[in-house]
Amino acid sequence: MPQTSEQTLQFLNSLKQELNIRRFSDKLKNGHAPEKPLPERVPLGNDHSVQGLEQRRNFLREAGCCPEHICTAIDDVQPEDLKGSIENFIGFTHIPVGVMGPLRVRGLFADGDYYIPLATTEGAMIASYNRGAHVVSRNGGVTSICISESISRAPAFIFNSVVDAGLFIEWALSNIETFKTLAGETTRHGKLVDVRPALNSNMAFLIFEYETGDASGQNMVTVATERICRWIEKETPYQPRTWYVEGNLSGDKKATMLSFLTHRGRKVVAEAVIKRKSIERFLHTTPEAMAEYCLTSTIGGVQSGSIGVQGHYANALAALFLCCGQDVACLSEASVGITTMQVNDAGDLYVSVSLPNLTVGTVGGGTYLPTARDCLRMLDCEGSGNARKFAEICAATVLAGEVSIIAALSCGDFAKAHTTFRHKSE
Ligand code: NAP
Repeated sequence: MPQTSEQTLQFLNSLKQELNIRRFSDKLKNGHAPEKPLPERVPLGNDHSVQGLEQRRNFLREAGCCPEHICTAIDDVQPEDLKGSIENFIGFTHIPVGVMGPLRVRGLFADGDYYIPLATTEGAMIASYNRGAHVVSRNGGVTSICISESISRAPAFIFNSVVDAGLFIEWALSNIETFKTLAGETTRHGKLVDVRPALNSNMAFLIFEYETGDASGQNMVTVATERICRWIEKETPYQPRTWYVEGNLSGDKKATMLSFLTHRGRKVVAEAVIKRKSIERFLHTTPEAMAEYCLTSTIGGVQSGSIGVQGHYANALAALFLCCGQDVACLSEASVGITTMQVNDAGDLYVSVSLPNLTVGTVGGGTYLPTARDCLRMLDCEGSGNARKFAEICAATVLAGEVSIIAALSCGDFAKAHTTFRHKSE
């Protein structure tokens, strides 16, 4: 929406020129009576056969859309293999993958020098991460620690009064052991670990916290919670008027204020110390200038209402998520975090990043795709037993990016780097 009165008038004038306003408002009054029938729906939405795929692509061609660059095959993936991952499948998109590294990570689970695959079309990004990785790795690497993990589903139960909602919560909390058993019947790796209540008006929210092994776990916790809710519906003496399996209190696919009180997925804190000499030689700035810019950007972030304050976590995480078969929509919560920079007693730079919501897994979701497996394998993170390691590598990568961008901004190199690496469109 335009912001100033001048912009508003300009906008309305252009609208008037473009549209016959009277006809438009008549149309609104008449409830959008359709002027022409809707075109045909996309055929065979849930048919994952090759024929189904071809029919949809032909349908698009006939409709005047041209899917020729949306490729139909990668490696050994057949349309049938994608059942459960996509509907109305018409092919694969192309996103270039680059690599940065080595990045030295010293974590509880990740311990080594890693080459990190990153999928992006943003010029300068990988060069910048690579620079950050080089500097922190020369200085002993990133200490990256996965400190906790769990993921929630938060059903809501609606009653006629706050008293009924309260009595229901009391009853529910006395049944946690049964809920654990019910959840365990739906998954081998998921485990209900806690239930926390939230009572507001006549609504009782139950926040079910699960551990989900090496999966990011969103499907797992939905299935388990649905099972528990169905049991509650049958057994509770306090019948809710209605209930919903998710009352929007879990923070699923949203940046929320829950982030720093609890966490969603895996919480990782990573830190590094970079010697003054390295900062001067490789980043062309000083620890003081970086710390001061970091403080300035914190004040800017606070004014903007940002949840957490950081430079560009989403760049590393989007690029890693795309490569490694993660759900990119979870970047909404995963990119929340806090970056700090301080000059230590030796005059060197202490850097930390805290990421409370790394919704990542090394099994489940899209991790079965051949490209995801290749990328996870590059990180020695393919399959079971590796989710915490992967989370620690994600956080270390984020830290490398924070170092590089804050260095560039602190010494005025930011625009230059983007101009140098920019793609020239025709
Ligand atoms: P999933 O692929 O639905 O489930 C993980 C599967 O891996 C389960 O079948 C699990 O078996 C199995 N598994 C094998 N070894 C495992 C191990 N070591 N640790 C954990 N599981 C292991 O994936 P998910 O992580 O639950 O869900 C992620 C997907 O959910 C993403 O693709 C995302 O797009 C989607 N998503 C769903 C919702 C939703 O509300 N449904 C919301 C957001 C995102 P067991 O089940 O027997 O343990």
